[in-house]
Amino acid sequence: MSDLITVQGVVISAAPIGEYDKRIVLLTRERGKISAFAKGARRLNSPFMAAADPFVFGNFTLYEGRTSYNLNQVSVTHHFVELATMQPGVYYGYYFLELADYFGREGTDEKEMMNLLYVTVKALMNSQMDDRLIRCIYELRTMAEQGLCPQLFQCAECGRELNIEEACFFSQEVHGILDSSCAVGQRDARRISPSALYAMRYIVTAPMGKLYAFRVEPDILLELEQIIHLYTARNTDKKFKTLQILEVMK
Ligand SMILES: [Zn+2]
Repeated sequence: MSDLITVQGVVISAAPIGEYDKRIVLLTRERGKISAFAKGARRLNSPFMAAADPFVFGNFTLYEGRTSYNLNQVSVTHHFVELATMQPGVYYGYYFLELADYFGREGTDEKEMMNLLYVTVKALMNSQMDDRLIRCIYELRTMAEQGLCPQLFQCAECGRELNIEEACFFSQEVHGILDSSCAVGQRDARRISPSALYAMRYIVTAPMGKLYAFRVEPDILLELEQIIHLYTARNTDKKFKTLQILEVMK
């Protein structure tokens, strides 16, 4: 019995193995990103039937075998079943899981990414929220959580603190904002509006529970998309399969 451990986590992917089993990938607080074998999870009467699925949050009891973890028991705390029926919301959801999977490592505390996924899936279920804004917020906050936050408060070149009202420029090359004099020498520097900069500052600093508590005008959303999607693509080195599906669906 000493080999049993219980972890708090979320299922970020599940793949069928053979006829009746599944292999799941979990993002956990105690062990980071781990994979576990869920025996019989595809049988109709299995207790894992509904628990070994993406977007399931809960406490997972695992048997630590010599080469892998085996799922022993699950106590589900949140299961966003309705998300599966929401389109294109569910595809955004799968992309968010894939991005979390990309950054996940074994042995780290994934509590913040778990919380981020939780508030993000809740936002996806809220029909008042624009999925495109949710994607911008999730991507930028993920970069910040992973230590890849762009410089949004000081000029990335001279270090001067920049007021939201003065002319600011964003450069992908220098990973942040520039004042007008430093922007002169930076070819890819482009003007960023005070509203877009304000939104980006909010996204990287807001408490998790208030992350999705704002809206923006359509032109600002477009600006956020152009800056944040490119920033995310340039700071990751993977073609996300789920993102390609999402782009096709647009
Ligand atoms: Zn400067």
